[in-house]
Amino acid sequence: MVLLPVHCPYCDTDQVVKCGKSETGKQRYLCQNDACGHRTFMLDYHHRAYLPEVKQQIIDMALNGSGVRDTGRVLGISKDTVVSALKKKPSLNASTPRS
Ligand SMILES: [Zn+2]
Repeated sequence: MVLLPVHCPYCDTDQVVKCGKSETGKQRYLCQNDACGHRTFMLDYHHRAYLPEVKQQIIDMALNGSGVRDTGRVLGISKDTVVSALKKKPSLNASTPRS
């Protein structure tokens, strides 16, 4: 069993091993700390902003007129993350008719 230079995002132990793939094909990891409440995790989800539902919240808040700074504060992420999440959404305003 090979330990990885990966830290569990929940308990920060480095006692982490690979544990197959998720439904979406992402690498899944297993935390070997018995005291840790979250045994498996995906490294891609280390940052909250990478979660699809958070990304959707960013977009929803932007559409509702929330500023980048407000969005970041409410969701607990940096405004840079908000900006980059919005930039990844192609033509957010161009194709959306305003009512
Ligand atoms: Zn852990």
